[in-house]
Parts: sequence; C-alpha cells; structure tokens
Amino acid sequence: MRFDLTEEELMVQKLARDFTVREVEPVVEQIEKTNQTPREMLKKFSEVGLLGITLPKEYGGSGASVLSDALVVEEVAKSGIGMEWLVSMNNSIGDTINHFASEDIKRKYLPPVCRGEQCLSILFTEPATGSDPKMITTTARLEGDHYVINGEKRFISWANWGGYGTLYAKDEEGKISCFVIEKNWEGYKTDPPYQKIGGHAQESVDVYFNDMKVPKENLVGEKGKGFEILLWWIAAEKIQQSAASLGIAEAALEESIKYAKDRLLRSGPMANLQGIQWTLAEMKTRIEAIRWLTYKCACLRDEQAPNWLTMAALCKTFAVPTAEEVTLLGLRLHSGYGYTTDFKIGRLHKAVLGGFGIATSIEVNKSIVGGSLIR
Ligand SMILES: Cc1cc2nc3c(=O)[nH]c(=O)nc-3n(C[C@H](O)[C@H](O)[C@H](O)COP(=O)(O)OP(=O)(O)OC[C@H]3O[C@@H](n4cnc5c(N)ncnc54)[C@H](O)[C@@H]3O)c2cc1C
Repeated sequence: MRFDLTEEELMVQKLARDFTVREVEPVVEQIEKTNQTPREMLKKFSEVGLLGITLPKEYGGSGASVLSDALVVEEVAKSGIGMEWLVSMNNSIGDTINHFASEDIKRKYLPPVCRGEQCLSILFTEPATGSDPKMITTTARLEGDHYVINGEKRFISWANWGGYGTLYAKDEEGKISCFVIEKNWEGYKTDPPYQKIGGHAQESVDVYFNDMKVPKENLVGEKGKGFEILLWWIAAEKIQQSAASLGIAEAALEESIKYAKDRLLRSGPMANLQGIQWTLAEMKTRIEAIRWLTYKCACLRDEQAPNWLTMAALCKTFAVPTAEEVTLLGLRLHSGYGYTTDFKIGRLHKAVLGGFGIATSIEVNKSIVGGSLIR
C-alpha cells in the first residue's frame, strides 16, 4: 500500500490538469450547445501523450501505471462535459486489446489509436440488455475465413467516429466471442447521436450490423471466451468511472467554496456560516474517501492482485453514488443560482448522473461484492 504518487504520476497529473484548462475548458460551451466534440480533440490528447498511456511503448503507448490513467481521467472530468470518456474509452479498450489479442492485431490496431488517428469503441449493450451482457443477441456466424455479424447495439460511445471497436457477439453455440472490427466496414451503420441531459462531449449512438464480415484473425482471445474479456474491460472501466466521479466531485467542491466566499448574505460571506462550512466539510470528507478507494483499486490492478475485479465493483458502488451526493450538496449550496446555467455546478451534477449514475448498474456491482462475501 502506498500513499504517495510517484514523480512520474505527479507529472502526468499536472499534464492532464494543464491540458484540461488549456484545451477542454475553452470548448465546453460550444460542446454544450452542439452536443458534438471537435474531432481534433483525439489528436490533441495524443500529442501530449495521454492516449494509450498504459500501453507498452512498442505500440506507441507510454507504459505508465493504471494509477496514471486514473489521474488523467480525474483531471479531464473536472470540466464536467464528459470529455474524459474520450480518453478513458480509448485507453481501457486499448488495454483490453493489449491484454487479450494476438500480436498481429496489437501491431495493426494499437499504434493508430495512440497517434489519435483512430477512435476506439466498445460494443456490447443492446436494446434489450445492458446490465446483463449474457443476454446479447447479436450473432457471429463462421463462414469460411470470416465471421458474419448481424444484430444491433445501443448507446455506443463514439461508434460514429472513424476507427475500431471491440464487438461482443454470440457464436453458433450461443457463447460470446470478442472481435476487433473497423467502423467503416460494409454492413456497419449508425444512427445520429442521442441527445443527453449531461456529459455532452460524449456521442452515443445505436449501431446496426447487416451481414458485416469480420476476418477470422480479428477474433480476440479464444472463440467463445469473450464474456471473460468483457468482464475484464468492465472492471477496468469501473476504476476509470470512479476516477471520473472523483474529478467531478472535486470540481463541485471547488465551485462551492468559490461561491460560498463570493456570495454575501446579511452578515457577510456565506462561507462564514457554520452550516455552510459543515456542508463543505462533508463534501471534502466524501471526496477523500472516493480518492483513496479509487487510487487503491488502480494500484491493485497495477499489481494484478487477484481481487482487483471485485474491488473495482466495490469501488464503483461507493464512488459513483457518493460523487452524486457531493454534487447535490454543492447544488443545494448554490441554491437558486445553481439551477441556472450561469454556474458550473449544475453541469457537474448532470455529468455524474448521466455519465456514471445512469449508465452504470450499481445494483449489479453490489451483487458482485455481496456474492464474493458469501462464497
Ligand atoms: C452515456 C452512456 C454511454 C454508454 N456507452 C456505452 C458504450 O460505449 N458501449 C456499450 O456497450 N454500452 C454503453 N452504454 C450502455 C451502458 O453500458 C448501459 O446503459 C448499462 O450497462 C445499463 O444497461 P441498461 O441501460 O440497459 O439498463 P438495464 O440493464 O435495463 O437495467 C435497468 C436497471 O435495473 C437494474 N438491475 C439490473 N439487473 C439487476 C439485478 N439483478 N438486481 C437489481 N437490479 C438490477 C440496473 O442497475 C438498472 O438500474 C452507455 C450508456 C450511456 C448512458
């Protein structure tokens, strides 16, 4: 157990913090209005070395720790626009490919992602199932030297951007396999993005497969073993979601302190009131608890500790709802002004709700943790 960040991690944290202020904050209003992220953002993340941060250098990555990745996600999330998903998705899906795919796949697909030329998506959710991926109905039928994919996926982040994806589909035996696909292949089609209540940087679309051909060699891992790969990715993403929740909660506290100091009530700044200080103290206490659980889980994954997948579920079970509470406390502290778009606090609350509260099945995570306790 370590409590200090390494010099490299401190450097990455500062890099991500500066990047967020310099490159993300200036486009927040534009993204909120248009619901679209400027495509050059991917390249910008890559130019400062934040894409593929945990991937080996031979594939264009930086070979940094999982904790470094969490620190990046935490910093970018502070803008409250959902931009952290762009970097977190690319990094965690890239990690999955690196962990499970063949050398040929890694050499072909990872370097363009690290260069910010291609965007990664993960495709498992379907109209009839999200929190129970075993119910996937998309099919992968082996025909000679390729698989034929048919089906539909829902809410897929950046599936409308050029690049690659890890697709989960059922084979002839009803078992789930994982494939790397290219998002411009024939038979691949997307709808326009959903209009969401928050996290507007993230574009989520439905995807349709109509006899899309995937070469046999694009199978990731063994045929029929895709569910284990999906569980691995989901666990890795839980640490990222916890890190994003942390960043959003920190930004909510920062905004609340600023507001409490500026806002004059009858006797002076609102911050002087004991009740307001108690609210700030509650926010800070919860933030520190999220921080240490999240950092600990990132370190467990770094160490490949056998319990890291269960701990990631535990982490998310605590981090996401707690960050929701923190942003709500901040929103209440802003009172009527918090309900206007003149203040950032409303955006932060919606980002944590929309991005992580709703898109994540907390109940399923509780079942993972609870189940592990009685086994
Ligand atoms: C912004 C956003 C981005 C997304 N990006 C992607 C993406 O890139 N790729 C992708 O594949 N998917 C993506 N998703 C989909 C996301 O993974 C699903 O929304 C999520 O898995 C939950 O599925 P669902 O919405 O279908 O909820 P459902 O599965 O319908 O669940 C509904 C509710 O039932 C609860 N529940 C489920 N099972 C149990 C149980 N056993 N006991 C008690 N309660 C239970 C759940 O916790 C939830 O509250 C995204 C979603 C959003 C909103």
